Amino acid sequence: MPPEARRWRRFTSVFADSVEAAGYECIIPPMFEEIGVFQRLGDATDVVTKEMYDFVDKGDRHIALRPEHTASVCRAFAEHRPVVPWKVWYSGSNFRYEKAQAGRYRQFDQVGVEVLGVDDALLDVEVIALGWEFFQRIGLRKVTLLLNSLGDSGDRERYVSALRAYFEQHRDSLSDEAKLTLERNPLRVLDSKRESDRSVIDGAPTIASFLSDDATAHFGQVCAGLTAIGVPFVVNERLVRGLDYYRRTTFEYVSEALSSAQNAVGGGGRYDGLVEDLGGPATPGIGFALGVDRTLLACDAEEVFSESTGLIDAFIIDVVDGQTALSLSTSLRLAGFVVDRGFDGRSMKSQMKAADRAGARCAVIIGADEHEAGTCTVRNLATSEQITIQQSELATHLATVVGSRTPRRPSS
Ligand code: AMP
Repeated sequence: MPPEARRWRRFTSVFADSVEAAGYECIIPPMFEEIGVFQRLGDATDVVTKEMYDFVDKGDRHIALRPEHTASVCRAFAEHRPVVPWKVWYSGSNFRYEKAQAGRYRQFDQVGVEVLGVDDALLDVEVIALGWEFFQRIGLRKVTLLLNSLGDSGDRERYVSALRAYFEQHRDSLSDEAKLTLERNPLRVLDSKRESDRSVIDGAPTIASFLSDDATAHFGQVCAGLTAIGVPFVVNERLVRGLDYYRRTTFEYVSEALSSAQNAVGGGGRYDGLVEDLGGPATPGIGFALGVDRTLLACDAEEVFSESTGLIDAFIIDVVDGQTALSLSTSLRLAGFVVDRGFDGRSMKSQMKAADRAGARCAVIIGADEHEAGTCTVRNLATSEQITIQQSELATHLATVVGSRTPRRPSS
């Protein structure tokens, strides 16, 4: 609802500015795909196994509403084979059948980036820093960047076996939910927020000792790069992230201003292998997604990035026949001003109220006298000063009150 929706749009436009300044191009993936596209994300993730909104369409195709964007971006890459490096950004809704609660919804928005075709650790640094700088830019100061490496696929498999063995040993102390998770994906047990699981998790082996030399070197370069450009981070060896396809670098941005159950405002990582699974050539990838709904909750909690007030320059009040309001609003809008007007021949009092409600900076009044004389009375709604001028001088006068504007000319 307005005015929240205006803030939402501003959020996306600040994000677009930030990433387009780094060479990322907008991509608009479809809302739904053939379900197999998302199933490639892995059968050990809740997003795929439990939370997808799927249906069979009239052509007997099995379709799912997108639970995230990465799979669609990789599908598009595999299908269209653009030149690499391919740097894209997106914004839009995702759908997950989750237990809805504050900060966790069944339809929620994300903005994010993906880069395909580059292995360089300095790209990880660029991507992670872009997310970090965006949070800084909208004014958030209580965001922490958590960083980890999941190693290459062999490292990850050896680590998962070690974890499985460890949790099996301590099975009796785990919650029923954690026992079930253990069957499907021992890594996800590390995510359990249950107090009873915490002490077992605290003693679990960590990934660091399973990393290959290459993965260790890559992670070292990422840490050094972030340090070199002054992006603070905390290495968290328990950070595993939800989707199966993550390799090497994983990261999450958490907000201390939110309650700990839903405090992740964004996250991402490197996913080498997903494009290949979707029928493309072997292609390294990395990206992140930031939760718009939840980041705005963090903004509320930190009292930053507030809703801006209305941007109406002039509200035209024509109490004669509305025709002067029609011609003046048309010409002022073409001259670049933001203009609204009253309708239905309402009384002066009622239209004045509407001008106030719209947050207009000026009211332009056309009463019987002004109508007769081809003039208008411009009232500055902040100072209550008013002046009567020729209608032909209105644009020049408005510019002195609200500042000059760039004309919007119809394209020829
Ligand atoms: P994910 O794709 O699960 O890594 O999520 C990335 C970000 O999206 C998270 O850090 C959250 O900020 C946000 N997010 C994920 N799921 C939800 C949801 N159900 N409702 C609101 N925000 C979400």
